[in-house]
Amino acid sequence: MKFGFDIDDTLINLREHAFKIYKKKLKKDLSSDIFHALKRVEIHEPFGLTDEEGKAMWVSSLEEIYYTDCPAYPGAVETLLELEKEGHEIYYITARPKVHGIRSREWMKQQGFPVKDENFFYGMQDHEKIKIIETLDLDYYIDDKPAVLNTLTHTSTHLMIMDQSYNRESAIERLENWYDFRSLISMKENTR
Ligand SMILES: [Mg+2]
Repeated sequence: MKFGFDIDDTLINLREHAFKIYKKKLKKDLSSDIFHALKRVEIHEPFGLTDEEGKAMWVSSLEEIYYTDCPAYPGAVETLLELEKEGHEIYYITARPKVHGIRSREWMKQQGFPVKDENFFYGMQDHEKIKIIETLDLDYYIDDKPAVLNTLTHTSTHLMIMDQSYNRESAIERLENWYDFRSLISMKENTR
């Protein structure tokens, strides 16, 4: 089967990693409860930044956010390695900017994710992911953003949403933990 994955906040804990970077840079000791209660993707509000300031903070911190020690979610690397071992095709579809594509791909390899260069797609806007996902004709696609997944509900790709505080309204099947992923898939495949 063909499995497609978003990267940030689906396979790796990017926003929380960025939140910790902001805490250090802005010298504000906010609790992780504040992070886990955020109702939007953007993380700057608890730091008292406007949207414009938040955007500037994100852009100026991007190097550190992307290429330091952002952790993968527990079980994510192992799950993808197992899928690869079982003979499935693994695709990555990330909206990270074009200039960060190749470095991000190499960074993912360093974290232990199984990456084939030709299966790594980047540099599109969120709403453009649909084109790639449709062309690839994926069996499964997992993302954290309802806005992306909602563009795909009419396709034959089976969708899952990675649980995050800002996407709890979505009715798309929810993945709370990467350790559950393979058993969810085999349950589905057995009932098809
Ligand atoms: Mg994401």
